[in-house]
Amino acid sequence: MPSAEVVSVGTELLLGQVLDTNSQFLAVELAKLGIESYYRSTVGDNKQRIRAVLRQALERCDILITTGGLGPTADDLTTECIAELLETELIFDEEVFEHIRKLFASRNFKMPDSNRKQAMRPVGAEILSNSRGTAPGIIWKLGHNELAKIGIANPDRERLILTFPGVPRELHAMWREVAAPYLVKNYGSGVLWSIELKHIGIGESALAEQFAHLLDLSNPTVAPYAGYAECRLRVTAKAATEEEARALAAPVVAEIESGSGSRCYGFDSDTLESVVGRLLKEKNLRLSLAESCTGGLISQRLTDVPGSSKYIALNMVTYSNQSKIDLLKVKQQTIDAYGAVSPQCAEEMAKGALALGYGDIALSVTGIAGPDGGTAEKPIGTVYLGLAAENFYTGKTLRLGKASIRSEVRFRTAQEALNMVRLYLLDPALLAPQELNTGAVGSAKA
Ligand code: AMP
Ligand code: MG
Repeated sequence: MPSAEVVSVGTELLLGQVLDTNSQFLAVELAKLGIESYYRSTVGDNKQRIRAVLRQALERCDILITTGGLGPTADDLTTECIAELLETELIFDEEVFEHIRKLFASRNFKMPDSNRKQAMRPVGAEILSNSRGTAPGIIWKLGHNELAKIGIANPDRERLILTFPGVPRELHAMWREVAAPYLVKNYGSGVLWSIELKHIGIGESALAEQFAHLLDLSNPTVAPYAGYAECRLRVTAKAATEEEARALAAPVVAEIESGSGSRCYGFDSDTLESVVGRLLKEKNLRLSLAESCTGGLISQRLTDVPGSSKYIALNMVTYSNQSKIDLLKVKQQTIDAYGAVSPQCAEEMAKGALALGYGDIALSVTGIAGPDGGTAEKPIGTVYLGLAAENFYTGKTLRLGKASIRSEVRFRTAQEALNMVRLYLLDPALLAPQELNTGAVGSAKA
């Protein structure tokens, strides 16, 4: 069985300013692949010491994995040290440079000259591409000649070097997209297959508690991840073929699906807006929107989905009181008596949007996004949603917390609003008042 050594590079790690979460992540991931770890090292941004640690690791492991030190600045030394240790030159990689240049251009930034450095790789090494940032890593298989040349013991045993940037989200993506499949193919037997079950209406810890008995499984493994106003369970199976891996995962996926009910809204690349779109299409229904505090965010998300013109019927942003009155026929008395942020106003907005005749369903939102405008009775983060259809109306109140920031209130509101439409499309009874729907799964609270 092959063994790996993770070397994390960075003075900030030694000083305790940054917690070395990459080593922990890699340790867990390596174990999942059945790759042993006997040693793990941390070294500061110093050439001589980095070279020494790399040499030592090559002596005692099969797979050397580094994290950190791939940035454009002078203290990013990993690639250089690897080239020096292996006594080879660094060459400029046009393709990588093009990737970096495009990334800067897409963000409308001028590329500093120092970023050229990230396009350098040692002769003989291949690029480990980075889909999330500028710094790619390298992937380098070292054979007898390369190892014997620098006097590494047991040069007949092949070694592998993988380098990753320090930024955790980049490392995670590169691991998942490139490194893990490569290691499974070359060092393991079989394939690693995984699926994400996306959830809304339940927090990460509640989800982990509900499926605690699954989190200890070893194949497939199940791990919870928190998202932004939603969370996920990832099921990963290892087997000889993808078919077998899917079959291993299937009962666990089925158990989660049935245990989560309508809280599980989709898989992998599904989004709430794409799922809502799919359901609208399936049922041949069209949706109208009357947004206030979200300022068009819900409309934007829904219309980001290609083909949405088939089922998105009307998008109104009625931010001012007068526009609610003029366009949605909200009554002046309603606003005077209850305020524009009120369940009564949400109801009149939804019914008014429906009455315009464009959609079969109309959704309204009105709320206090902050940072001003909160009161004791209606603090920041108070939002009222309304959903109207023929002979149907239901409202919902959100209390997102006084401390919420504006963008968060808007995003969470959009999540809840999209989920409300989704639940209605699945079964209007899922939106029924709570006392009529006491089941844990898919209650109006979800
Ligand atoms: P670097 O690739 O060395 O330029 O690192 C970029 C950033 O990633 C650093 O400023 C740290 O905030 C973070 N980082 C570096 N190494 C680690 C690590 N081992 N674990 C978690 N974060 C890290
Ligand atoms: Mg660094």
